[in-house]
Amino acid sequence: MPDQKTEYLWFKDCGLVIRADNVLFRISGEILASKSPIFRDMLRIPQPVNGETFEGCPVVCLPDDPIDTTAFLRAIFDSEFFEPYPAETDFETIHGVLKLSNKYLVDYLRRRALLHLSSRYPTTLDGWLAPAPTSWSIDSTLLIPAINLAREVSALWVLPALFYSLCMSTPHHFRSIARGVPFRGDKLTTLSQSDLELFLEGSHAQRECASAMLQFLWFPEHLQGCTTYAGCYGARCAERKYREGLLYELGYRPLELWGEAEWRQLPPTICPTCVKRMKSNHLKALKGFWDWIFL
Ligand SMILES: [Zn+2]
Repeated sequence: MPDQKTEYLWFKDCGLVIRADNVLFRISGEILASKSPIFRDMLRIPQPVNGETFEGCPVVCLPDDPIDTTAFLRAIFDSEFFEPYPAETDFETIHGVLKLSNKYLVDYLRRRALLHLSSRYPTTLDGWLAPAPTSWSIDSTLLIPAINLAREVSALWVLPALFYSLCMSTPHHFRSIARGVPFRGDKLTTLSQSDLELFLEGSHAQRECASAMLQFLWFPEHLQGCTTYAGCYGARCAERKYREGLLYELGYRPLELWGEAEWRQLPPTICPTCVKRMKSNHLKALKGFWDWIFL
């Protein structure tokens, strides 16, 4: 493929050309060196006499993906491109900036990208149930690249929520997870062997937990303080049967199976005392599940 100049990263008064595959960037080596100790050391090494040049500028070739490199360099040279959270951004940008700022030790960009990444994947149950605004959205096909990115940059705190999301979004498609997903072209991106095993084990448990999360509907049979046991228990069991029938259709998402809408839809024959006890038991189950995925 012919070389391709990056229009918005082509500063004619600058004297360094960066190459990533066939994509070229003309930028200031001094600014880049001031942000990254890795580039500072790299650019100190004298260029070989017969080294590659482009329009009279020395060329530094990077082994990185051109899309990642574009996002990373743009974040450095265009101050409006990658603003701190909660400014809006997208996964491709976070991927490029985080991966390369981690690799080239640009700390302020690494921190900024980690804040964006973490905004979708809270570490507390309250944060998951009542999430703060996120600065980006993600298609479920990008969850595997997101897990691989988190592994690569050691952002381990986002992994439980990411694995949960992957299982929730693909409850019946294990084969496609094992095969991998297309990411940037036709090439399939897969989980590592150990993460695939983790996913398979976790998704099995998540299925079990989805059913167990509804246990508060029928267990314990006698709820303390209830004076209309027969009517309440009959209605609770009927609700259980109905909700369990929806499990396959709703997917195995224990944290989302029951919320405000479902509480409002409970039959009025269930007394307020029972509802109060059921709410308490449901919250305990939610906390138990959250603690389990963060183990
Ligand atoms: Zn009752």
